[in-house]
Amino acid sequence: MAFLLQGDDVLHQVNPTPLPDPYWVAFSPSAAKLIQIPLGLTQLPADPKWLEVLAGNRLDLEYKAFHHPIATAYSGHQFGIWAGQLGDGRAILLGEINGQELQLKGAGKTRYSRMGDGRAVLRSSIREFLCSEAMHGLGIPSSRALAVVGSNQAVRRETIETAAVCSRLAPSFIRIGHFEHYAALQKVERLQELADYLIDHFYPACRVNEDPYLELFKAISARSADLVAQWQAVGFCHGVLNTDNISALGLTIDYGPFGFMDQFQIDHICNHSDTSGRYAYHRQPQIMHWNMACLASAMCPLLEINHPSETAQALLRSALEEYPQSYADSWQRLFRAKLGLKTAKEDDISLIERLLQIMHDAKVDFTFFFRKLAEYDSIHLKPPQEARDLFNHLAVIDDWFREYGLRLQSENSVDAERKILMNTCNPKFILRNHLAQHAIEKAQQQDFSEISKLLAILERPYDEQEHTEIYANPPTAEHRAVEVSCSS
Ligand code: AMP
Ligand code: MG
Repeated sequence: MAFLLQGDDVLHQVNPTPLPDPYWVAFSPSAAKLIQIPLGLTQLPADPKWLEVLAGNRLDLEYKAFHHPIATAYSGHQFGIWAGQLGDGRAILLGEINGQELQLKGAGKTRYSRMGDGRAVLRSSIREFLCSEAMHGLGIPSSRALAVVGSNQAVRRETIETAAVCSRLAPSFIRIGHFEHYAALQKVERLQELADYLIDHFYPACRVNEDPYLELFKAISARSADLVAQWQAVGFCHGVLNTDNISALGLTIDYGPFGFMDQFQIDHICNHSDTSGRYAYHRQPQIMHWNMACLASAMCPLLEINHPSETAQALLRSALEEYPQSYADSWQRLFRAKLGLKTAKEDDISLIERLLQIMHDAKVDFTFFFRKLAEYDSIHLKPPQEARDLFNHLAVIDDWFREYGLRLQSENSVDAERKILMNTCNPKFILRNHLAQHAIEKAQQQDFSEISKLLAILERPYDEQEHTEIYANPPTAEHRAVEVSCSS
């Protein structure tokens, strides 16, 4: 955070706006461990001051870092169009504890709030909380969520709702948008401070290279490619892949109208306001590449310190060209693992792609299918009944199952061993929309038990867990009809 602690053009010191009569809505004991908050018997912080701290009502004087809460300036491209300055319009960084930045989202107005009220509603805060922790449970890099603190304070969205603050943790919340901001202001020194900070703290291997900034670009791009591949492998759609929502550490951040797919649709759009489908599931990989192009052009002045302009551009262009292969490598590795394949053969790609096409045509539940596939009997080429039953054109899927079985035989796959491995990468539980919605509706009636229950399940998404089948099953037609509002 050191680079942020100077200069009026990049940050704004601002205290959170107090949240009236706060109460606990959700708390993650596992995230609390990251910053070593001692917990009491109820698995909430033993010291009641934490409720006030996480509501934004009190600055904890024990931690030096808490003395100057800040909002940072960043810019960005929204839906492919340069939006100019944005910034933390409702997220306030309290400080850093144990290598984690603690940020309160929905903590009130900042200099960057523009037309917004600086608040977040209960509904979207619960969604961010659950999804951050679910992502972590899945092993996918993400900001963490510490708590949701609610209040009866009214907040106007499509209807009147109530306010909440979601406290989140990450080693850094630096975004591509921070680079774009300094580049737009033509502040090369700031760009350099930003890049140096990232290298020193998170990408130290880049320093030993003769062109550390080029290496930094490559490293961010590789992490981002890998991150998207991981989203694709669990059917996750982020919803708003604007450059201001893209972490420079390759973390999933800024949960808004995200969604895990139930029925697999390759062009699934989870964000109601994304009318052109820019951020549809199948576009996420190329959109991340586009975002990396924005990063490359923002970082160009850094390379121009040591190279003529044309060389700097050429170096970045060729580094950017590494993205598709980097993404393809991650995607293939992950999908091979989902199929339980130990070896890599060229035909695997068409095997995987054909499966995805059949699943798309039959609108098969993505998570349920892959989980059940682990029970495939490769000795008798017999698919698990529950997986086969998901399809309507049996001849097509039977063909595929047969080819899959032969592929498994070709590498002498051992069913029992493969099943164990497949169950470590095909989750049984994901944050399905209807599950989140159910927890939200109960919370709106002041019953927060379903959030804790979901949290406990989603922390161990690959494990079999007792009495939880309804959390693993595909949604019914009635569940699918659940409308999720995108305003937050
Ligand atoms: P998002 O797409 O939610 O990541 O937000 C895009 C930009 O709008 C960021 O600069 C946010 O800080 C800002 N923003 C979103 N909602 C609000 C709000 N209620 N009040 C102030 N700023 C907001
Ligand atoms: Mg954002």
